[in-house]
Amino acid sequence: MDVSSLLDDLNDPQREAVAAPPQHMLVLAGAGSGKTRVLIHRLAWLMQVERVAPYSLLAVTFTNKAAQEMRGRIEQTVGVSLHNLWMGTFHGLSHRLLRTHYQQVGLPQGFQILDSDDQHRLIRRVLKSLNLDEKHWPAKQIQWFINARKDEGERPGQIEAGGDFSLQTMIKIYAAYQDVCDRAGLVDFAEILLRSVELLQQNPEVRAHYQQRFRHVLVDEFQDTNAIQYRWLKLLAGPDSKVMIVGDDDQSIYGWRGARVENIQSFLRDFNEPVTIRLEQNYRSTATILKAANAVIANNSDRLGKDLWTDGREGEPISVYTAFNELDEARFIVGRIKDWQQQGNTLTDAAILYRNNAQSRILEEALIQAGLNYRIYGGLRFYERQEIKDALAYLRLIANRKDDAAIERVINTPARGIGETTLAKVRAAAREQQLTLWQTLQQLLATKQLSGRAANAISQFIELIEQLSEACDDLPLHEQAEHAIKRSGLYAMYQAEKGEKAQTRLENLNELITACQTAPYEADEQMTPLESFLAQAALDAGDYQADKHADAVQLMTLHSAKGLEFPLVFINGLEEGMFPSQQSADEPGRLEEERRLCYVGMTRAMQKLYLCHAESRRVYGQEHHQLPSRFLREIPEQYLEPIRLTTRVVQPVSSGRFSQQASHVAFENTGYKLGQRVLHSKFGEGTVLNYEGSGPQSRIQINFDEVGSKWLVTAYARLEAI
Ligand code: ATP
Ligand code: MG
Repeated sequence: MDVSSLLDDLNDPQREAVAAPPQHMLVLAGAGSGKTRVLIHRLAWLMQVERVAPYSLLAVTFTNKAAQEMRGRIEQTVGVSLHNLWMGTFHGLSHRLLRTHYQQVGLPQGFQILDSDDQHRLIRRVLKSLNLDEKHWPAKQIQWFINARKDEGERPGQIEAGGDFSLQTMIKIYAAYQDVCDRAGLVDFAEILLRSVELLQQNPEVRAHYQQRFRHVLVDEFQDTNAIQYRWLKLLAGPDSKVMIVGDDDQSIYGWRGARVENIQSFLRDFNEPVTIRLEQNYRSTATILKAANAVIANNSDRLGKDLWTDGREGEPISVYTAFNELDEARFIVGRIKDWQQQGNTLTDAAILYRNNAQSRILEEALIQAGLNYRIYGGLRFYERQEIKDALAYLRLIANRKDDAAIERVINTPARGIGETTLAKVRAAAREQQLTLWQTLQQLLATKQLSGRAANAISQFIELIEQLSEACDDLPLHEQAEHAIKRSGLYAMYQAEKGEKAQTRLENLNELITACQTAPYEADEQMTPLESFLAQAALDAGDYQADKHADAVQLMTLHSAKGLEFPLVFINGLEEGMFPSQQSADEPGRLEEERRLCYVGMTRAMQKLYLCHAESRRVYGQEHHQLPSRFLREIPEQYLEPIRLTTRVVQPVSSGRFSQQASHVAFENTGYKLGQRVLHSKFGEGTVLNYEGSGPQSRIQINFDEVGSKWLVTAYARLEAI
């Protein structure tokens, strides 16, 4: 490929950045302005024009997926193999450093990575060995503490505890935990980074080697680097290396995890006034989407300030859909995606973005029902999540005591003092006599072959399952689920934990209860409702691998959508308390981070953006009425189009912009007339007020005598004329 084509398809400032002489650079620019494109072209330029060997380049991306894509695109452009180009995430690259220099950092050659769940389990073991009560020292909180300290680059000996007893204890736990890890040759995620920083700090010859090797260091999504990552960068970039960072302060969305947008300022200082290049032209989104996103982010203070424009077309207005509940919202989204597909588009070009992982379940069910393939990024599918699997394991045991896998899963979750030794004994006995684990447990108890403590714990476990089973006998499915989750101690276990993840797990457990309540799992001759539900859940989870490469709708949280783009984007759950989340609404700093998240979400859309919110939503199995998100109000009305198939106004109902607006569709073919009296099985008698939409999406508004006005899906309303 010739040199000039590397600069084709670039605008002036982009070209300036790509073809700049070797120098430190900051590319500061808003969403969709080509930052990532510039970074890729710069890498290619350095190889082709400056004749820098791939070996001498280091490129940091935010996700592994981004690294893979980038590598592919550069290989295509440059036409040479890039096997010795170091490109990946901070963690991926640090891990590589540790593998190479395991001896210098005191790790065994085959050291293993501890994922977050393993780390948690290990911390609990350490707490036990220190005789500390988990009630006072919740493992999740300790985990959060250890990781945060490591992210700040601090070892136990470097933390000042002063007279703070609680902090002293945390430090003691941190030290003991680290000791176990070191002896077992285990590194957690935060350790990977810290250890590689220490490697570079403590080994001048290793540091010198890499500093000489990496003549150019390039970093994408720089606004989300944390303290240790920035230190890592400074250590790897030598006196002769040139560093180029690209980022957008408006897209810093990991502050809650220690990311520091101030690193941009530090970079300007530490790297001796690098050349700053601003890109202001957006190539991704329509003018409408861009102006709307700009209007939202303009409400934040302390921005570095950027003007983003496009010479692209205006595009369609942003559609705002006011659903009356979360099911209606999901049904609407799926309906629009079906239309999109029927117009000849691929599903892969459509993305649904949400604030919390728990929101995906309703969407998944609607997609499954509609027979649309989907793929979830950056999170497990609902039924594969640990806490859901734990809860399902209890339900499975209620349904079937022979389920060995379920016993394995929950016999000691939450911890009830059944240790590995006892378990090994049980497993061996079961194997020997070819009995199920459940039978074996009973037999070992009956023949008194277990120590007093183990026997006690096991008989309690058996009793728990029997009691649960009995108590659940005549309960509706969702109450069975609630019972299992609460009485088993699962709920309390996660409640005792702190941090974002424990909160998510609780939300998911509640969501499971809602799933049982609303899902149409009917009993038939073969199966009880519980069995039928469990079968569905298992099938759902099993589908996952099959459609990995198939044409599929993309589902992900707003956080994992960073850096990506899709022609069609839906953002759902735009309600106060949901997005912005409840906790953030009261704290200005966090609210601004939520707003940046909204900006990230909106700027993923290329052609068409839908913003959805529901008037009522079941959260934790309870119905909540929420106001539309303030972010909706921050978008100038001229860019929005409420979804109403309106012909003429009949009767004003409410003047709220996003509430039930006065609008009306001809009532032909509906069987209902304006002003007609109808009877609803739950809400009683009322008068027909309004009607909108057509086909399965049509809705009818009734003013009920008892409960006031409500929108109902016509097809499900089952109204009786009176
Ligand atoms: P984000 O902030 O979301 O990470 P970004 O600034 O990294 O966005 P890119 O993803 O690099 O932006 O580019 C956005 C879109 O615009 C891509 O589809 C890219 O191919 C296209 N693009 C970038 N620059 C140009 C250009 N000069 N001409 C045409 N298309 C461009
Ligand atoms: Mg990018």
